[in-house]
Amino acid sequence: MAETPQKSGELRIGVFVCECGLNIAGTVDCDALSRYAETLDDVVAVVQNKYTCADPGQNEIKRAIKEHLLNRVVVASCTPKIHEPTFRQCVSDAGLNPYLFEMVNIREHVSWGHQGDKEKATAKAQDLIRSGVARARFLEAQEETVVPVTQAALVIGGGVAGLQAALDLADGGHQVYLVEKEASIGGLMAALDKTYPTMDCSI
Ligand code: SF4
Repeated sequence: MAETPQKSGELRIGVFVCECGLNIAGTVDCDALSRYAETLDDVVAVVQNKYTCADPGQNEIKRAIKEHLLNRVVVASCTPKIHEPTFRQCVSDAGLNPYLFEMVNIREHVSWGHQGDKEKATAKAQDLIRSGVARARFLEAQEETVVPVTQAALVIGGGVAGLQAALDLADGGHQVYLVEKEASIGGLMAALDKTYPTMDCSI
């Protein structure tokens, strides 16, 4: 097995299993999932919550980070699109770099897609948690930096798509540089005489 980048430091991973009421617990055996997570290497704490994103659930994460000296956090709940920022802020509030957090989707990817087959859904959720824990071992702390951005765009190609993109960007108030390798703009459209169904001139 490959060595982790953190081989010199002890990994202390916390896994937080969310039931989401019955959204997850109605299909996935969350108790079995928690017991499974406890067997994974480097996992030193497993906490199961009804609603992990609610204040009591977030407080459990903060408490466990301090109590178990966690240096990685894995939350098994819903899509990261919804609550990844919530949990990054939560672990940051507890003093952990927010990029040492990993999210596993056992709702949209498991319970909502596999209703009616608890055994297979639970097995899939176990696989995803094992993968999330494996990925968490390789996470590295990141620092966020703010860099100045030039409010200008380069559009390559003066065909219909390029022209429309250039116009949209200009309408948005950006300086646009349009580059076309041919002598004239218009691309393939410029080679057409008329366009169906209006039979208008193509340019
Ligand atoms: S974290 Fe996601 S899955 Fe858990 S209770 Fe909140 S919305 Fe539901």
